[in-house]
This record gives sequence, structure tokens and C-alpha cells, in this order.
Amino acid sequence: MDIPRIFNIAESAHRIHNPFTPEKLATLGAALRLEPGTRVLDLGSGSGEMLCTWAHDYGIIGTGIDMSQLFSDQAKHRAEELGVACQVEFIHGDAAGYVAVEKVDVAACLGATWIGGGVVGTIDLLAKSLRSGGIILIGEPYWRRLPSTEDDAKECLANSISDFLLLPELLASFDHLGYDIVEMVLADQDSWDRYEAAQWLTMRRWLEANPADEFAEEVRSKLTSEPMRYASYTREYLGWGVFALMSR
Ligand code: SAH
Repeated sequence: MDIPRIFNIAESAHRIHNPFTPEKLATLGAALRLEPGTRVLDLGSGSGEMLCTWAHDYGIIGTGIDMSQLFSDQAKHRAEELGVACQVEFIHGDAAGYVAVEKVDVAACLGATWIGGGVVGTIDLLAKSLRSGGIILIGEPYWRRLPSTEDDAKECLANSISDFLLLPELLASFDHLGYDIVEMVLADQDSWDRYEAAQWLTMRRWLEANPADEFAEEVRSKLTSEPMRYASYTREYLGWGVFALMSR
């Protein structure tokens, strides 16, 4: 079981697989006023940076589930590096349908809401693991600028304009589901660059190390086209944020 290989190649040097910097992740942790011992569940936990740094900085206890073997291994390594291996557990597996045995204080899914079939389904899934009065964290893109054509939306790697909402509409959608939005931390263009532009050097280095790999042609083509696509589309049109929600 694994994710498409291109992600394991292009994002192999990333600690955060989202348009967030370490500073923004720390800001989010501080904004949530996490107490030592807070139990956090993270579906699609990637390389575990959120759980590991929050365990280190705020004393949380965490469980992460991720489908990438590489990212799950990196998460375990990071936990050891930060000296928090006894506070966090990383499970390599499919998070679809995952419900925690013991209810958690914070249930998160950052940049992987397809796990629950979209934002609404993921909120419902996370709610099953959440103690009453707990916080749901959803990391999701929104349109900073609405694309004028469906082709422009596809250049942002969306399937269609309707995949995402404008920020006020996204907030209204949480409200309509019966949730208070109690915090949010947003990406900006510089933090998007850390996610996107950092993949280019990784791909270049990978190509140099693996010239004969059957994947080299695909990686070469992506490295050539990505900077212009990203600068013209994603960087201009797409926002991203983490939204903290509490059921009313
Ligand atoms: N939340 C992490 C990773 C976001 S990238 C971070 O912010 O760094 C999306 C992640 O979802 C990837 O790590 C990918 O491996 C994982 N993923 C994709 N489908 C999944 C599934 N069905 N179950 C668990 N993880 C999944």
C-alpha cells in the first residue's frame, strides 16, 4: 500500500507536505493553546512534523496515520530525533474510515480531505474520534482569486472550479455544518513557495542520482514545467489554511 511514486520522489525532502512553514505550524499549535497531555489524532499525517513538533513544544500525545511508507518511516525517525517517540505513534495505513479507540481532544486532517471523500465527509469522520467539546482541524485550499475558466482551475491542479470555495464561502460552509470557527492560520505566497519550489531542487537531485530510472522522464518533464505552471496559477489563485472547528 502506498501513494503514487511521484509524491514520494518530489516531496522526499519535505518535513511539511503542505504550504505551511515550521513557523506557521508552531503558530497554529500556540493558537490552539495546547496543554500537555492533549490527545491529537492526525489523518494523513505525512512525515509527522505537526505531531512531533507539538509533542516537543507543547507536550501533546499523538497518533498519525499515513499511506506513504516513506513518509511514515520519516515520521518515526523525526519522533526519535526530537526525543518524543514515547509520545507519538505513527501507523502506516489507509486512514479512510479510521476511528480512534480512545476519544481525542483534537482531530486533524491537513491537506488530505479526500480521505473522508471531501471536507464534509472528513469532518464527519474526525467527529467520530473526538471527545465532546474537542477541536477539529481541517487543512484545505480555497480560491484567493476565482479562476475565470475551467482550464485555469485545472492548471491549479483542481479538477474543476467547484472543487474549492472562496475563503468566506469556505467559512460559511463550516458554519452551515453547525461548527463554530474558533481559529485559523493561513498560508501565504511565501509559505506556498516552501512547499512547491522546494520540490524542484529535490527533483533535480533525484534526476542526477537516478538517470536510468523508468520514472526519470516523468520527473524531468515535471521539473521543466512546474515552475512556470506554479507561478502562473497555483501561486496566484490558490490559498490554503487550517481551520479550527468546534461543534455548536
Ligand atoms: N498532513 C501532512 C501531509 C499532507 S500531504 C502534512 O501536513 O505534512 C497528504 C498526505 O496524505 C500524504 O502524506 C499521503 O501519503 C497521505 N494520504 C493520502 N491518501 C491517504 C489515505 N487514504 N490514508 C492515509 N494517508 C493518506
